[in-house]
Amino acid sequence: MPKCENWGDRNSLLFEVERNIMALDPFLKSILVCPKCKGDLIEETSPPGLVCESCQLVYPIREDIPIMLIEEAHAKGDHSSP
Ligand SMILES: [Zn+2]
Repeated sequence: MPKCENWGDRNSLLFEVERNIMALDPFLKSILVCPKCKGDLIEETSPPGLVCESCQLVYPIREDIPIMLIEEAHAKGDHSSP
């Protein structure tokens, strides 16, 4: 019985799952909306953040956790750190 092949598939599947967890959870991302206008957010990688195009606000991502607070957001293009 070629059980080894099945295990190989399973391991690669697990690897895929683990790798996806490293990135922002797609489900989490799909339910995240701008707290101000409830609009869609665009993920940015450098620096990590979620951008609302309508509000021109960037919500920061700290340690893989999106900070969905208007007070924590900064204007898009504003790179000055607090
Ligand atoms: Zn918005």
